[in-house]
Amino acid sequence: MVRDTLSRPLGSLRISVTDRCNLRCRYCMPEQEYVWLPKQSILTFEEIARLARVFVALGVTKLRLTGGEPLLRHDLPALSAMLAQIPGVQDLAMTTNGLLLAKQADALRRAGLRRVTVSLDTLRPERMRELARSDRHADVLAGIAAARAAGFAPLKLNTVVIRGANDDELADLIEFARGQGSEVRFIEYMDVGGATGWSAEQVVSQREMLDGLSRRYGPIVPVSSADDPAAPAERFRLPDGTTFGIIASTTAPFCRSCDRSRLTADGTWLLCLYAERGVDLRESLRSGASDEELREVVTQAWTARADRGAEERLSVAQRGALYKIDALRADPRREMHTRGG
Ligand code: SAM
Repeated sequence: MVRDTLSRPLGSLRISVTDRCNLRCRYCMPEQEYVWLPKQSILTFEEIARLARVFVALGVTKLRLTGGEPLLRHDLPALSAMLAQIPGVQDLAMTTNGLLLAKQADALRRAGLRRVTVSLDTLRPERMRELARSDRHADVLAGIAAARAAGFAPLKLNTVVIRGANDDELADLIEFARGQGSEVRFIEYMDVGGATGWSAEQVVSQREMLDGLSRRYGPIVPVSSADDPAAPAERFRLPDGTTFGIIASTTAPFCRSCDRSRLTADGTWLLCLYAERGVDLRESLRSGASDEELREVVTQAWTARADRGAEERLSVAQRGALYKIDALRADPRREMHTRGG
C-alpha cells in the first residue's frame, strides 16, 4: 500500500465523470456562465477503467462516481459494470443530486453499483428554487424512492447547511431520512472553488448544529467510527436511536485521516480538494504510457503528498471565498463541480 508523507494511505478515489450539472446550487455553481472542459479531453469509459485499475493496484479499495452530475453522463451503468468487475474494489458508490435517478436506479444496481448518496438540501420545493434554481424537487424525491426500491440501502442523504437558507430544517431532514430508512449527513458550507459567495457568517458549525439538535431531542452521543477511521462524517445518535452524520470540513477538518483523491473528467488527478493544481494523467494515458509507468507517476505523487488543504484554510485570517470568479474561469479544474466534491 502506498502512503504519503503523513502516512496516509491511497485508499479512496472519487471519479468525476462530467463537469456538467443540471442544478445551479448557490454554494457550488452560482454563476450564470461557466467554462467547460473541452469535449475531446473527457476520458472515455475505457480510459477511466484503466486508470481505476492502476489506482486499485496501488491500494485503492473505494471508488465513488461523482461530477458535475454523474447521471448526465450517457450510459453510466456501463461504466459502473466495468468498475465493479475490477478485482480489489470493495466499495463502488455514487453521489448524485437525484434528478435523473428514478430512471436509472435499477440499471445501476444491476451493474454493480453498491451505494448511493443523494444530495438533498431542503424538503421545501420553493427553497430548492432559491438554492439550486430548479423546480424539480419532486424528481429528487422520486429518485430517492427509486433508489430504495432498487435495493440501495442504507441510502445516504447529503445536506449542505447554510445559515439563513436551510439551517431551520435539520430536524425535518433527520425525520425525513428516518422515514426513508436512510441517514442524513449535514455538511458544513465549505469555501471551495465554486463557492464564490462563501462567507464565514453563513457557516453553521458542527457545534452549533449539535447544540440546536440537543435542545430539540435531548442528549446526543457520538457513534464510534473505529470501523472506518477515514470516513469524513462523524456520526451521532439521538436518544431514540436515530443516527445522523456531520461533515465538519470547515470548522474541524480531518486532513490527518484523509485517504481521498480525485480524478476530474479530463483525467487530472487532485491530491486534495483544495489543491491548486493536479497531475495530468490523461497526457500520460494518451501518449502511450504503460500501466507500470502510470503506477509510477501515481506512486511518486502520492508518496510526496503533504497536503492539508482544509486545515491550512483554518489559519487564514479574514477568510473569504477561496477563488474569485476570474481565477475559476482561468482554470475550470479549480471548480468544485469539476473536482467532484
Ligand atoms: N451533482 C452531485 C451532487 O449534487 O451530489 C455530485 C457532485 S457535488 C459537487 C458533490 C457534493 O459536494 C454534494 O453533496 C454537494 O452538496 C457538495 N458541495 C458542493 N459545494 C459545496 C460547498 N461549497 N460546501 C460543502 N459541500 C459542497
